[in-house]
Amino acid sequence: MTAEAAAPETAYLHFDALVDLLGRILEVHGAPADVAHELAHNCASAERDGALSHGVFRMPSYVSTLHSGYVDAKAIPQIDDVAPSMLHVDARNGFAQPALAKVKERALDKVCTQGLCIVATHDSHHLGALWLDVEPFARQGLVALTFVNGISRVAPHGGHRPFYGTNPMALAVPRHHTDPLVFDQASSAMSYGEVKLAQDHGETVPPGIGIDQAAQPTVDPKAILEGGALLPFGKHKGSSISMMVELMAGALTGAAFSFQVDRRQHHGAQTSRSGQLLCLIDPTRLVGAGFPDRVEELVQGLHDSGQARLPGDRRYENRRRSHSVGIPIAAGVRARLDALLDPAARP
Ligand code: NDP
Repeated sequence: MTAEAAAPETAYLHFDALVDLLGRILEVHGAPADVAHELAHNCASAERDGALSHGVFRMPSYVSTLHSGYVDAKAIPQIDDVAPSMLHVDARNGFAQPALAKVKERALDKVCTQGLCIVATHDSHHLGALWLDVEPFARQGLVALTFVNGISRVAPHGGHRPFYGTNPMALAVPRHHTDPLVFDQASSAMSYGEVKLAQDHGETVPPGIGIDQAAQPTVDPKAILEGGALLPFGKHKGSSISMMVELMAGALTGAAFSFQVDRRQHHGAQTSRSGQLLCLIDPTRLVGAGFPDRVEELVQGLHDSGQARLPGDRRYENRRRSHSVGIPIAAGVRARLDALLDPAARP
């Protein structure tokens, strides 16, 4: 989905105004102010950058999850300093981004002294786009890599039912005098949000995205989401990447695997109670100040080889456009957001 398909009745909101609106919605439905701000900032950033599957489209999911009792929005994460370069975070059934915000300074201290830090978070709910978790570290000169597991929606290669989460991963590295190089992708052939958006818009999805209840290939998003399953990208190779994400974000953090996440007792819950692994590396410890030069060398090589568009280019371009003209919010979307300001709203 791109930010370009704006409806005629579209208003252009300033970033801060959108953060404020989304934060008020989350507070109305029970999130404490700091948690509401963190999630609102994350959601508005995704919308600003044209990552629409994790932008304001997710607000009903946040509201619904808050009312389901599945997540504890007031949870205070417990941070254990388990090794010179490791922090183990128990998010205590709270949201992942506020937990990351709380651990950030301590992680950076460890990177300063040790050259790297691994932050292993479990019992956390992540409903955002991952690159927002890593890009800020690359702006501080670090290499940042993260994995998140989630709700079982993806059949393993050759499998016939949901097993893996859509299991995203993101990497951000610093560049000279320009935005970090970031890639951020689900390990499913399409993210759940994109398939849901296709369903909402009455569209089909391309072949190879999912299977139906009978494990037959289908382009019908409803058949994929209701009884069927998404497929991993790249057949067996993507399936193994998804397995890696389960191991890194689930087994290594102490979190549930995606197939163990059980929301049945919590009607309306739309997040996963799972885990996140974040690895931060100071490249200067390994290769001195030359790392960004090597990144440029690689980027130049990619351009010379014919890859004009790099991962992250689209989002940065959308961000620049949003900064100059505002974030496009269609009238219907705005009306649905405003309706969520009602404490009685139940999406
Ligand atoms: P996309 O397939 O849209 O994009 C994946 C990556 O590929 C991006 O870095 C993108 O850059 C890049 N890219 C896309 N097209 C090209 C191209 N033609 N040439 C070079 N690079 C390209 O993302 P997904 O659908 O896989 O994931 C969408 C979002 O969903 C992600 O932000 C992810 O973190 C999030 N997600 C979150 C989950 C959670 O549990 N919290 C679960 C699953 C997904 P660009 O961004 O510039 O387009």
